Amino acid sequence: MRSYEKSREAFKAAKEMMPGGVNSPVRAFKSVDMDPIFMEKGKGSKIYDLDGNEYIDYVLSWGPLILGHTNERVVEAIKKVAETGTSFGAPTLLENKLADLVIERVPSIEVIRMVSSGTEATMSAIRLARGYTSRNKILKFEGSYHGHGDSLLIKAGSGVATLGLPDSPGVPESVAKNTITVPYNDLDSVKLAFEQYGDDLAGIIVEPVAGNMGVVPPVEGFLQGLREITEQYGALLIFDEVMTGFRVGYNCAQGYYGITPDLTCLGKVIGGGLPVGAYGGKAEIMNQIAPSGPIYQAGTLSGNPLAMTAGYETLSQLTPEDYKEFNRKGDLLEEGISKAAQKYNIPVTFNRAGSMIGFFFTNETVINYEKAKTSNLEFFASYYREMAEQGVFLPPSQFEGLFLSTAHTDGDIQHTIQAAEKAFSALNK
Ligand code: PMP
Repeated sequence: MRSYEKSREAFKAAKEMMPGGVNSPVRAFKSVDMDPIFMEKGKGSKIYDLDGNEYIDYVLSWGPLILGHTNERVVEAIKKVAETGTSFGAPTLLENKLADLVIERVPSIEVIRMVSSGTEATMSAIRLARGYTSRNKILKFEGSYHGHGDSLLIKAGSGVATLGLPDSPGVPESVAKNTITVPYNDLDSVKLAFEQYGDDLAGIIVEPVAGNMGVVPPVEGFLQGLREITEQYGALLIFDEVMTGFRVGYNCAQGYYGITPDLTCLGKVIGGGLPVGAYGGKAEIMNQIAPSGPIYQAGTLSGNPLAMTAGYETLSQLTPEDYKEFNRKGDLLEEGISKAAQKYNIPVTFNRAGSMIGFFFTNETVINYEKAKTSNLEFFASYYREMAEQGVFLPPSQFEGLFLSTAHTDGDIQHTIQAAEKAFSALNK
């Protein structure tokens, strides 16, 4: 048995100082019923906790570290820039460099604004959509997460097209009522919602591959349908690519699926592990943002030199071949784990898109949040703990995806399959 003694002590101290002992809720490991593991360092695909335990890391800081931990070029570049200044609050060339690269690579982005988190990106994109269209309502999908902004932290309703209820105390009902929630992958519900509220709908915000209900790719025609209906009603289509951006494809999910939204939100990978978000899109819309236009949005540390550098050095190392490799490694992992599960009669359903991998302990085809919830959560929690014990670090929630990095080797995948087989065998007893 591994020892987690130092993590336990650290958590005890942290609980006295921070809500639940953490700075972001899912880090408390509540849904897998164990104390959090405190991490100390990482290299490539591996991370090490305070007690010296090694893990193959499929969390990758919840997505950003697509090149793995402490990538040499990224670290060297950050060090070099740090010596010349960590922040100026005035423009730098580093901002131009990252903006240029993102504009070149993301089909929908003609003009971009850098911010410091994914939440900021989605909040700002929604303000822009409302300001640009002079409409109030936003349509989002049940089980999708777009950060913790008031308008987007809205409980998934069970009806076909439900007006939002706040998902958290503190979100005013007056704000929540302007968010309409419908099931993911359900174009008929989207159409109904537009028939009912179309005059006041500023836009649809959608994860082009849902990654916050586990991984749920769009069904054939879904994204195209959203593109058509938003055009028909004069609403904006906003792709929240905070997670999918540069993960699902070299040109993001929009490049992979061939659908061009009006606005795109980015985060995670574009910061290479430092705090970065961004939103961008058609020049005509983006130029409504201050100081070109009247819609206000600002940030003390926006375009921070260290963050721009980490992002640029990360994106500039990625090649189209890397995405072929992600698919090949994903195939290996899916085949190996599915085979092991079959051997022990354990139902498992895989959903994948590029370097995003989701699995559910259910026989159902998972196309939306309702179906994702058919996964056996108790089994997931036990499986999670067994995998951690064998040195495989998974996201500590069924409703999150696994991520691959360019640093993951075939050996890592084989180790993970063997660990899964052992876990299934232990849990089958
Ligand atoms: N949108 C999506 C799709 C996300 O997955 C997340 C974070 N997981 C966010 C927005 C919010 O990003 P951040 O945590 O950087 O605020």
